[in-house]
Amino acid sequence: MSKTIKYSGDTIIIGGGLAGLTVALELLNHNQRVIMIDRDESEKFGGLAKESFGGILMVNTPVQRRMGIRDSLSLAHKDWLSFAGFSPNDIWPKRWAEKYLERSIPDIYEWLSHRSIRFFPVVHWVERGYHISGNSVPRFHMVWGTGKGLIESLIQSIQSHPNRNKLTLYWRHRVTQLELHKGDVSGCSGQIETTGDDFVAQGNCTVIATGGINGSLNLIRKNWHPDFGAPPKTILNGSHKFAIGDLHQDVERIGGNITHLNLMWNYAAGISHPKPRMPFHGLSVVPPRSALWLNYKGQRMGPPYLMAGFDTRYLIEKICQQPYQYSWQIMNYKIAVKELAISGSEHNKAIANKDLFGFLKDILLGNAELVDELIEHCPDIVVANSIDELVEKMNALEKNHLVLSNMVYKEITNYDQCIHNKDYSSDDQLRRLKHLRTYRGDRARTCQFQHIMDKKAFPLIAMRYYILSRKSLGGIQTDLQSRVLSPKEEPLSGLYAVGEAAGFGGGGIHGKRALEGTFLGSCIVTGLAAARSIINPI
Ligand SMILES: Cc1cc2nc3c(=O)[nH]c(=O)nc-3n(C[C@H](O)[C@H](O)[C@H](O)COP(=O)(O)OP(=O)(O)OC[C@H]3O[C@@H](n4cnc5c(N)ncnc54)[C@H](O)[C@@H]3O)c2cc1C
Repeated sequence: MSKTIKYSGDTIIIGGGLAGLTVALELLNHNQRVIMIDRDESEKFGGLAKESFGGILMVNTPVQRRMGIRDSLSLAHKDWLSFAGFSPNDIWPKRWAEKYLERSIPDIYEWLSHRSIRFFPVVHWVERGYHISGNSVPRFHMVWGTGKGLIESLIQSIQSHPNRNKLTLYWRHRVTQLELHKGDVSGCSGQIETTGDDFVAQGNCTVIATGGINGSLNLIRKNWHPDFGAPPKTILNGSHKFAIGDLHQDVERIGGNITHLNLMWNYAAGISHPKPRMPFHGLSVVPPRSALWLNYKGQRMGPPYLMAGFDTRYLIEKICQQPYQYSWQIMNYKIAVKELAISGSEHNKAIANKDLFGFLKDILLGNAELVDELIEHCPDIVVANSIDELVEKMNALEKNHLVLSNMVYKEITNYDQCIHNKDYSSDDQLRRLKHLRTYRGDRARTCQFQHIMDKKAFPLIAMRYYILSRKSLGGIQTDLQSRVLSPKEEPLSGLYAVGEAAGFGGGGIHGKRALEGTFLGSCIVTGLAAARSIINPI
């Protein structure tokens, strides 16, 4: 017979990812008794942030200034509005975007620095935009230690906190319902997955920090945006296995507003995880920019030719417009070793382990270890010593004859010919590569006009990319105190939502596109807003 176990505290936090952790830390600073409940195992404390690359968007930091980058709030605001493409009704998302930018120094840079978190001295320049302008200057600050280092430092801050005994953590507890008392949210309830018992947790305030919906391939398909046509047959999962919207549904049941679920930040270059930990588990490749990006039959997509680092949504749109919604990249071994990376702490061991020597070695010599490991274990990669052999293997992988050898031959020859003639202006990809190499942060990781058919750089490599699900841009609508709002914009008493669950603020802080690095940053900004409001309600 299952029993019901009762817990109580001042505040109940549902979800132990970066957003939940931030709330907990701040509440401990104010002597609150905190209960944190998570469906996962204790080793996964920190959620997705622990697996993340650890890139954070911040504006006008000392790191940028040391590099001579001139950034400002007004420039960042202009870039955010341009990239987001907000609709006139996106009042709360726009307010949150402003708040993020205003708080990026005190709430992110200083808050993290205070907890001994350091940033890599070169700021990355991502999402510059194609047709729609994105980041005008580099803003993606890499945490030294990646997301793993970020979370380890924050957990250390919790473990050594003078009020540590005021925090109780419950793992393998799945929250299924919010509890109400006289119309106010009074906590939550659910099941303990290890014992089958039920539990009820009671508190004055309840914070939803359960992440997004992108761990559910069904919900992704159900909420697929019409801009991308029908959802692809194969979508890989690069999110959290428990980010399946349990609490989104329940917030709606008790009168909260859920918005923009059809806005997502998925990636165009997903490959199957060689050691999958969930069905369709995928990795997000940082696609080499000197590689050619081809469609299902081996034709280059564009112009503008597809390249990473400009507009992720545009890549998805172009690939999904194809009759077969997957794509190929063709490169040689030298390009792969120099430019290929995988997003996340798992495949960036040197930075994750704060190994400066290893990191410098990867930058100078490339990461042959990663490429060799992927070639050996990833089913989406084929290698060959001629175009005919490569195409044969690509077709064998797809079990069809769609890739045309003469098409691939023509695309590679045209591209190599432009390099041979030093004609970098008539090919849009080469023009952009030339421009990219003017920035220090990109030059180190980009080949200098590398021919594909250079025999010294062989073998040839083809990678098959599926769309990879990652972040929910929409979610539970919140005001600037992270209080959950009703469709009439009234706060639901006692209920807060933070991080990805809240669409990173206001149910969709990013609009349609993210400047990148804004996900981790938003978890902290929304988490601190919730904690401050709980401590000092207005
Ligand atoms: C490989 C990778 C690389 C990334 N790199 C970056 C980057 O460089 N920069 C950036 O800004 N972002 C990055 N991200 C995204 C970022 O990590 C996430 O958006 C962010 O960490 C989400 O944090 P969160 O706390 O809102 O949710 P999560 O980390 O998803 O945590 C939610 C928690 O809630 C728990 N939970 C869910 N449902 C329930 C339930 N019903 N009951 C109890 N518990 C529940 C889960 O177990 C989980 O622990 C990356 C993500 C990945 C996967």
